[in-house]
Amino acid sequence: MSQSQLFDPPPSENAADPARKVAVLVPFPVDKAYTYALPAGVEAVPGDYVVVPLGGREVPGVVWDDPADDVKPAKLKVAVHKYEFPPMPLVERKFIDWLAQYTMTPRGSVLKMALSVPGALEPPKTVQGYIRGQHLNEVTYQGLSPQRRKVLEAVAHGPPRRAAEIAAAAGCTAGVIKTMTAQGLLITVDMAAAAPCSHPDIDRARASLSPAQATAAEALCEFVRQGTYQAALLDGVTGAGKTEVYFEAVAETLKQGRQVLLLLPEIALSNAFLERFKARFGCAPALWHSSLGPGQRRTTWRGVAEGQTQVVVGARSALFLPYQDLGLIIIDEEHDPAYKQDEGVIYNARDMAIVRAHMGKIPVLLVSATPSLETMANVWAGKYAHLQLPDRHAGASLPDMHVIDMKVDKPERQKFISPVLMKAVVDTVAAGEQALLFLNRRGYAPLTLCRTCGHRMECPRCTAWLVEHKNSGKLQCHHCGYAMRQPKECPACNDADSFAACGPGVERILEEVKESFPQARTIVLASDTATTHDELKAILDQIRNHEVDIIVGTQIIAKGHHFPHLTCVGVIDADLGLQGGDLRAAERTFQLLHQVAGRAGREERQGHVWLQTFLPRNKVMMALSQHDRDRFLDIEMHEREAARMPPVSRLAGIIVSGKHEQQVDEVARELGKVAPQGDNINTLGPAPAPFYRLRGNFRRRLLVRADKSVNIQKAIALWLSTVKTPSTVRVQVDIDPQSFM
Ligand code: ADP
Ligand code: ZN
Repeated sequence: MSQSQLFDPPPSENAADPARKVAVLVPFPVDKAYTYALPAGVEAVPGDYVVVPLGGREVPGVVWDDPADDVKPAKLKVAVHKYEFPPMPLVERKFIDWLAQYTMTPRGSVLKMALSVPGALEPPKTVQGYIRGQHLNEVTYQGLSPQRRKVLEAVAHGPPRRAAEIAAAAGCTAGVIKTMTAQGLLITVDMAAAAPCSHPDIDRARASLSPAQATAAEALCEFVRQGTYQAALLDGVTGAGKTEVYFEAVAETLKQGRQVLLLLPEIALSNAFLERFKARFGCAPALWHSSLGPGQRRTTWRGVAEGQTQVVVGARSALFLPYQDLGLIIIDEEHDPAYKQDEGVIYNARDMAIVRAHMGKIPVLLVSATPSLETMANVWAGKYAHLQLPDRHAGASLPDMHVIDMKVDKPERQKFISPVLMKAVVDTVAAGEQALLFLNRRGYAPLTLCRTCGHRMECPRCTAWLVEHKNSGKLQCHHCGYAMRQPKECPACNDADSFAACGPGVERILEEVKESFPQARTIVLASDTATTHDELKAILDQIRNHEVDIIVGTQIIAKGHHFPHLTCVGVIDADLGLQGGDLRAAERTFQLLHQVAGRAGREERQGHVWLQTFLPRNKVMMALSQHDRDRFLDIEMHEREAARMPPVSRLAGIIVSGKHEQQVDEVARELGKVAPQGDNINTLGPAPAPFYRLRGNFRRRLLVRADKSVNIQKAIALWLSTVKTPSTVRVQVDIDPQSFM
């Protein structure tokens, strides 16, 4: 059914009652809610979903809380339609207002994230289900083929089933079902697609918790029962049973009849997690991430809005679903950089989830083995409760950490695995166990250089080297997707076959492993070697089932997975993330390496982790090898305090970009001249961004640092309003930047 068929006929202007005006926010980059008249006989309250005319089109919108403008009745446009649907809750509207103000984005752009599902407001499509034909007697039944009897068994009990389900259960084709329907053996019925996760079973498979787990779980359940805002950090090493513990808080919230939002950084990769959820609650959670199909999005959006869907597990955008009665938010791996959205509306879903919880007066739980410094600062300040799980579950011990000084224990020329690590891998495989070599770099080599003239192969659109991918014979830009065939001749000096691959990527490490272990079963895993969900699942299954001995992988392998046979982890370049001078470089490196290390020895056999580094005395290596996270956080916090950097202050990145370098430069310089400078606020730059060109745009950056007492948004808004910007230059504000590229 098309949208227009659903609308009441557009009322004539006379039918409108100008006394009843409403402000409507539309999902476009505008901050203002426009005023409309309601058609006669239509009532609308804030939160109601409507369709309004805008610039010659009919667009969706939401009745907002702003007072209506003082527009003359004759000029007032009339809303076209109001949906019969539960209104968007007040807390959601307030959250949108707040987030827009905080991130300095028009409110309509934020609303757009909440109205991201075209057609969700339309009555749900029905799907066809099948039940058993009514005039079937025992005699005809016995006369049927075994396959047909199987089909009938599949629909004998429970609600109607869909053709695909029946085909799977009976092992038959769709054609069989069609024929049986024509013969009256099956009857079709229309059914609405059911809201996902509407009846989780709270008591399905409760784990029996250890005393420490039980204490943490009880504290969380108490927060849920109190039903007020409370932030808490659930802090424990990988394998401590944090998931088991927060499942109890989920169960408690469901018992209270309220909804749960669980944010995961890599939801699309979290098959094992979903299986676990199913085992615990008897049904899958409702999923929310960018690769869902439109049908699934619609039913979930509706299920959440109507309050039927109880648990949503999602990526950051799940924060903008219109929860009817949200009772708990959990942010797993709260430190993960994936929570920051760097395009469109620039926001940090972790931080915004905390705000959302505060507005909704509900508890919010942050979960991590390596909490961010921001979160720890809040724990130290007494703002967040701190629930700790000190040990791995069931006596599994933490892996032994070994630091390999690459200045001493050198690999052979053009090789990247030191003899010590090589021996560890040999011993591991000989003992019938698995080894993982970790390098957070895709492809074969990060740089291709001409040996004759020194020319570096760079992306024509970005300030970035092209990464060699040997498998595909291509040079690729990892920032804009540009790709070219590996040329025969150097484009600068025309010398043939003069290219040298510099540095390793995972493909090159795999090559080295294969040379040393021709008989070992190896596999490489990176986001571009397993591009679909199914491919990834197949690889992870292979690893879990011990069908491979040596795995070479990027961070895709680091997160959350439980590999029972893996006992040896070698980090090829532990210093990789420390380059670049990013504020959080050390913190991020620590978090990532800790997480990778956590893959080793998760069951009874002892795990060993080897860190190849040129900086063995670096605070990150020291903290990892001594298992002393808290000391690391302490050092890190002191450094940030001394530099007056977050979390003791706040930052905002200003990115000026455009196709014309000179224009970009001028705007950036103008901004620099009148930038906020003072005692409690100061501005650095403009400077060419590290990615000075990105996707063909020239870029300059400024960085504002302000004490927490300063209203940084206000200062920035005032500042930016004083400089004229041509429409061809874009000025983006990134509040609390995580990336400085
Ligand atoms: P974390 O989330 O802290 O990394 P998990 O919750 O994934 O830890 O637990 C690690 C492993 O230990 C999982 O396989 C989990 O099923 C198991 N486990 C943890 N606590 C318990 C428990 N109380 N009873 C049974 N198994 C548990
Ligand atoms: Zn590029």
